[in-house]
Amino acid sequence: MEKETVRYALSARRGEFVDQETERAYCEHVEGITVRHLIVALRVWAFLLVGFGWLDYLALGLSDGFYHLMGSRLFSALMILSFSVVVRRLPRLASDGGVVTLIEATGFLLFFLIYFVRPDIVTWNIGVSLILLISIFIFIPNRVVNSSLVAIFGIIGTLYCIWLRDASSATLVGTFFILCLPTIIGYFAALRLNLGQRQQYALFIETVQINQSLQLEIKRREELEVELKLQATTDPLTGLFNRRHYEMLFRRELERVRRHGSELSLCVVDLDYFKRINDQYGHDVGDQVLKQVAQLFIDTLRHSDIAGRFGGEEFILLLPDTGIESALLVVERLRTRLQEEVVESEDEKVSITATFAVTEVSNDDAAIEDVIRRADKGLYEGKAAGRNRVMAV
Ligand code: GH3
Ligand code: MG
Ligand code: MG
Repeated sequence: MEKETVRYALSARRGEFVDQETERAYCEHVEGITVRHLIVALRVWAFLLVGFGWLDYLALGLSDGFYHLMGSRLFSALMILSFSVVVRRLPRLASDGGVVTLIEATGFLLFFLIYFVRPDIVTWNIGVSLILLISIFIFIPNRVVNSSLVAIFGIIGTLYCIWLRDASSATLVGTFFILCLPTIIGYFAALRLNLGQRQQYALFIETVQINQSLQLEIKRREELEVELKLQATTDPLTGLFNRRHYEMLFRRELERVRRHGSELSLCVVDLDYFKRINDQYGHDVGDQVLKQVAQLFIDTLRHSDIAGRFGGEEFILLLPDTGIESALLVVERLRTRLQEEVVESEDEKVSITATFAVTEVSNDDAAIEDVIRRADKGLYEGKAAGRNRVMAV
């Protein structure tokens, strides 16, 4: 948080971010608006420059003085308009401030010519200078520091021109104070404007960042929710449904059997001589076998079938909409695939078989325990009969 405060700290004198990188980012952010404002300001300036030539004509007629003045007016207007075209292509020039400052200073320089060609309107000229000074701060977008330098240049230049025209020191001092007035007002107004815009920018960035972290948090929580749901419904080793979940799914299917008379088969699976695998190859290989057997169930069964881990090396399969005949076919296919499957773990190649007992769920079955108990009998018989077989109960 402290780091953020430093990054968005503002210089009260310059009206800019203290941190150069933040200032650059801000300038880039407002570049479009700055360019548009600058172009409008430049056009208005060029228009007024040429427009005031009309007054020169009325006062001077088509004299040398008029031509000099008009030449300088047209030159300034052309320079200003050319820049307004260039800045559209190179928007960086608007926020950089260097070229704008140069143009403002040149504009002032050419403006000084009027003091010598039209000494009759010196008072008018000072009035226009006041407007120019305030416009430099408020109307033409530029860095406050640059605008201040141009204003100082304008004040010194104006006083120098008046002094060259033999003005009294009282006039010079008076003019100085009059010129200082719009400069001070302009400086503080520009400062306030610049600071306000940057504060707004800092708030905007803060909002964007908060929004981003909020989005991240939402995503994290959604992932967590999925993870929790998975943990609550599946067995961590095999990824099959855990007991609690397949029992719940069984209740739902049993309800369908009762209401709609649909068929439902249940199969218990017990891996044959699994203890030997653990003893012979180790517990890790045993785990690997359990995982692969589970994957084989998932791959072989239909999407709507339910495979769960009962515990240890025993599994429960629920086959909705499947009567005993079809269930026996499905389970027989499963048995053959399992028998053909070779589990490769590290250097070991392990073969595994299982004994299956299938039973159809009827209306009379009250709970899953009843069905499993029935199937378990079949399983017992299957084991006794030599294992690796499918029993129908
Ligand atoms: P049978 O053919 O009669 O079913 O013989 P079996 O060896 O498979 O049966 P038994 O019930 O004697 O042994 C089951 C073994 O399964 C014992 C236990 O160590 C092992 N087992 C249970 N859960 C896990 C497990 O999560 N990982 C591993 N690796 N082994 C397990
Ligand atoms: Mg067992
Ligand atoms: Mg077993």
